[in-house]
Amino acid sequence: MSRFCLYGIAILLLAACSTVPVTGRSQLNLIPGPTMLSMSAQQYGTFLQENKLSQNQQQAATVRRVGARIQEAVERYFASAGLQSHLQNYKWEFNLVEDKQVNAWCMPGGKVVVYTGIMPIARDDAGLAVVMGHEIAHAIAEHGNERMSQGLIAQLGGTALSTALADKPEATRQLWMSVYGVGAQYGAMLPYSRLQESEADHLGLVFMTMAGYDPNVAVSFWERMASQKGGAAPPEFLSTHPADATRIANIKRLIPSIVAQYGK
Ligand SMILES: [Zn+2]
Repeated sequence: MSRFCLYGIAILLLAACSTVPVTGRSQLNLIPGPTMLSMSAQQYGTFLQENKLSQNQQQAATVRRVGARIQEAVERYFASAGLQSHLQNYKWEFNLVEDKQVNAWCMPGGKVVVYTGIMPIARDDAGLAVVMGHEIAHAIAEHGNERMSQGLIAQLGGTALSTALADKPEATRQLWMSVYGVGAQYGAMLPYSRLQESEADHLGLVFMTMAGYDPNVAVSFWERMASQKGGAAPPEFLSTHPADATRIANIKRLIPSIVAQYGK
């Protein structure tokens, strides 16, 4: 590899380094933000066309209400940190889809889907705030971009990453599908890393607390999730979100300082 190329990669990696809000962790995001947002808008639209929105108006309103409160908290957090420009191209949507899967997700730009199957485990607004706060946190922390970037490096090694992105939209699309392939035809989403999971728990607790919900509800929510394990078909959400003792202990440990800092 030429010196010029190495130099180019160093510049690219430097330019692509960003910082996760709240936790301050450095991450490498190689996919341009506008690319992520346009893929998100397109895939979210396709998903909504291919799936059925819930006709339960009361539950759908709950999803929109809780989503709007979390959105408002996220916007307040970013404004207080002087980072509001990070959210300027967000087009938030909160939809409840008729599907007995126990699942929920958020694509980049605030595109949320909650499945009706998770509603009985969420139980109420605060329980739903645990789920939506966590999923929105994955999007806010750009975990999808980070995972696609890791996939890109694994596939292409050190060769001209920016050229790969510019010249290979199909490769970029496939990377997207490996991270956000939520339609039945793509199978289950690959799980986030353990680090990303605990980071999403942390950010989710902050946002739900700022939104006025009691973060202690997260403990009982994850205990309810853990008790789902015994069934014949473990919920989709559990395969990507192990509700184990470590997760619950971490959440319990975080709550007092989050309440002190972000509670009313
Ligand atoms: Zn997660």
